Amino acid sequence: MKPGAGRPAEVYADVCIVGGGPAGLTLALLMLRSGARVALVERSRSLEREYRGEILQPGGQELLATLGVLEGARERGCHEHDGFRLEEHGRVLIDGNYRRLPGTFNCLLSLPQRHLLTELLRRCQAHPGFVSLTGTRVNGLVEEASAVRGVVCSGTGSEPDTRVVRAACVVGADGRYSTVRRLARIPYDRVELFDQDVLWFKLAARATRTVRIFRAGGSPVLAYTSFPDQVQLGWTLPHRGYRELASRGFGEVKDRIRAAVPEYADAVEEQIGGFKDLSLLDVFAGSARQWARDGLLLIGDSAHTHSPIGAQGINLAVQDAVAAHPVLCEGLRRRDLSARMLAPLVAQRQDETGKMTRLQVMQSRMMLSSGRLSGFVRPKAALLVSRTPAYRSVLRRIAYGDRGVAVRSDLFHETETGPA
Ligand SMILES: Cc1cc2nc3c(=O)[nH]c(=O)nc-3n(C[C@H](O)[C@H](O)[C@H](O)COP(=O)(O)OP(=O)(O)OC[C@H]3O[C@@H](n4cnc5c(N)ncnc54)[C@H](O)[C@@H]3O)c2cc1C
Repeated sequence: MKPGAGRPAEVYADVCIVGGGPAGLTLALLMLRSGARVALVERSRSLEREYRGEILQPGGQELLATLGVLEGARERGCHEHDGFRLEEHGRVLIDGNYRRLPGTFNCLLSLPQRHLLTELLRRCQAHPGFVSLTGTRVNGLVEEASAVRGVVCSGTGSEPDTRVVRAACVVGADGRYSTVRRLARIPYDRVELFDQDVLWFKLAARATRTVRIFRAGGSPVLAYTSFPDQVQLGWTLPHRGYRELASRGFGEVKDRIRAAVPEYADAVEEQIGGFKDLSLLDVFAGSARQWARDGLLLIGDSAHTHSPIGAQGINLAVQDAVAAHPVLCEGLRRRDLSARMLAPLVAQRQDETGKMTRLQVMQSRMMLSSGRLSGFVRPKAALLVSRTPAYRSVLRRIAYGDRGVAVRSDLFHETETGPA
């Protein structure tokens, strides 16, 4: 219904999920498979998510495989990496070899987010209880006596129509700059735990078999093969230092990048033509002060934001959805989706994501720190640490996260693994 044409159109659902990223779509599919009616509100019309998380840890792969979506996503195109490597001037300091890990999913998977999201969405669309409002942005909450009962949203096209989605529970899965969080007046604590930002770019270049963190000249660089046949590079630079560097002109930026990646210097010269080919990620950690209110739950990046180091964002987002699924099913059954009912779930996820943040800080210090002292200490410390048995258990933790989170397929209504 167009503005001014009367009351906005209303949609009714059990759960209204705002944000069709990994967290939102995984939760949508889980809830649909358990017979719930789900309305998904996603502002983007496309599933293109360039310069988003592409590296999927074994833990996330395992959960998505149990849900029956990993294979279809992989078939759309991906690259397996044997693990990650920390290299300094050609010397391997840490060889995080995932092939030695137990389990079927012993690799780091470079999987474009659009492949994962396309597969999740395709599976959701096969359920009659699914209403997908894409190209629609949330701009208000429906609140009754301090409980959230739905959202107000409007199309992002030239003739925006307004709709109201009413639901027993609204899930904010709308990313690090969450609108739902802001509308719910939930403060967000941004924490500057990391000393670097990352400048991303892609090159047609020789494929890598591992995710590399290498230091050749200047600050460290992340590199991995990205589908179909490009190498994605992330040049780390001092936190908030980019604006000053960029003000010196594109030539200066390019020279610094070429010096940081000597093996790709020619490719940078030929393929990076201007600032438009570079994408800056402001690296920070953060957490919403409240993850639940009566009728409202925040999951994924909207509740907790992570550094790209250690590739944990998607894993944690998928885990949040998997952990929330049985709780929301029970809440719908009991007609109680109060903050109190959601509190144990929130406490469990806050504990796990807090542990991951601490692990990422450790990884960041070990792999990306600069300065003369750390330049001297880091290689020795890295070599030493990587040879201890404790390191193997840290590696398992990085790869799998909380192994207590498992898909509750016993709550699924249908018996098949999913529509063809
Ligand atoms: C450059 C970069 C590299 C990264 N690399 C990795 C990596 O290699 N591995 C890894 O695991 N993680 C990585 N991450 C982190 C990872 O991408 C995120 O943690 C993950 O995508 C979080 O999933 P999410 O579903 O919570 O949020 P998002 O993926 O951010 O999805 C949020 C969705 O909400 C939608 N939305 C936002 N506002 C509104 C609104 N008002 N109304 C409707 N819809 C809205 C957005 O369009 C989006 O689709 C990286 C992140 C970045 C930025």
